[in-house]
Amino acid sequence: MSLADRAAALDAADPLAAFRDRFLPAPSVVSYLDGNSLGRPLEATARLIDDFVRDQWGGRLIQGWTDGWLEWPLVLGDRLGAVALGAAPGQTVVADSTTVLLYKLARAAVDARPGRRTVVLDTDNFPTDRYVLEGIAAERGLLLHWVETDQATGIRPDQVAEAVDEDTALVLFSHVAYRSGWLADVPEINRIAHEAGALTLWDLCHSAGSVPVQLDEWGVDLAVGCSYKYLNGGPGAPAFGYLRHSLQDSLKQPIQGWMGHRASFEMGHGYEAAPGIRALLSGTPPILAMVPMHANLDLLAEAGIDAVRAKSLQLTDYVLELADEWLAPLGVEVVSPRDPARRGGHITLRRAGFEQLLAPLWESGVIPDYRRPDGLRIGPAPLSTSFTEVHDGLAILRDLAEKHR
Ligand SMILES: *Cc1c(COP(=O)(O)O)cnc(C)c1O
Repeated sequence: MSLADRAAALDAADPLAAFRDRFLPAPSVVSYLDGNSLGRPLEATARLIDDFVRDQWGGRLIQGWTDGWLEWPLVLGDRLGAVALGAAPGQTVVADSTTVLLYKLARAAVDARPGRRTVVLDTDNFPTDRYVLEGIAAERGLLLHWVETDQATGIRPDQVAEAVDEDTALVLFSHVAYRSGWLADVPEINRIAHEAGALTLWDLCHSAGSVPVQLDEWGVDLAVGCSYKYLNGGPGAPAFGYLRHSLQDSLKQPIQGWMGHRASFEMGHGYEAAPGIRALLSGTPPILAMVPMHANLDLLAEAGIDAVRAKSLQLTDYVLELADEWLAPLGVEVVSPRDPARRGGHITLRRAGFEQLLAPLWESGVIPDYRRPDGLRIGPAPLSTSFTEVHDGLAILRDLAEKHR
């Protein structure tokens, strides 16, 4: 069977195929392979935003706050926890950006382990994670213990075991590595960190909505993630934060705003944290930017995260097949795990000079993700991408790579 016929057969057998029609068309795009950077909008999202502006904001005006907006950070957090994160209610909020929530949670965590002076993290984590922790270390007089990770794989339990000790306050890693797509063994790393008495903070930006997550079951202490990648929330959509029930009384986040206060509208003297997860909030929630999440969580609940993961693995298997057949002879290397148990939702390809292909790819309607110095990330979002779309995009990449040899 030809590779094109295989794509057609996989599409015909795909139980999620019909979900693609729920997304807004992008007529000039032949192949969108960057769902891991910015998910596509749903038709329903366009309608919801229009309705929200006209009816809720325009029609109810300030009454919207008491009609429900004030509860959205917690209501949407609970829903997200149920649909995608394996988190029981009362532990997840939608707020801020990933960067800001990461700061709030990491600061709360290190302050809850006084006397312990190191934070363990890896050299290839997403820049914002590394920068935020550098800032916290400077602010609190902590040391950063950097684990060197391979850019084609990612953090392993044995490396964590070697790095943690009785001086470790916190370990911070990404569940799916943004560069390679390496899927970390979260439960095992948590076990090792907890044995040393440290707290664990996981960045879920590249797993939320793509890979099943079981925060409660895996013993995660704290987690953050964004909603504009596989959760299709739109550019700059707010982030989510998770703080395990058992830690909510002892961890205090540092940005004490009125929305995290016990009685926001009493405007009283002195900060008193709200009970439970609400204390993670700081200022007025970005309600307008949360509107798409209602549609996206309905969609994900309907499809089911396990079905999404099953298709994601089939898509990345197919990307590997095309890469081996078409691109390897052109000097393109796969720098992602092949083992499905260690593979997230995207595949990174590497060849010197890939940067020059980016403009011609875009001109041909093929949109992958480019990461310096020479990596192309192929991130086919399962709910909005067909196998034929992957085939057509990589065929154009192959032709361009041949031309620019
Ligand atoms: C995308 C991403 C972020 C983004 O953080 P923002 O504050 O939304 O800019 C953070 N961490 C990881 C691992 C990411 O992939």
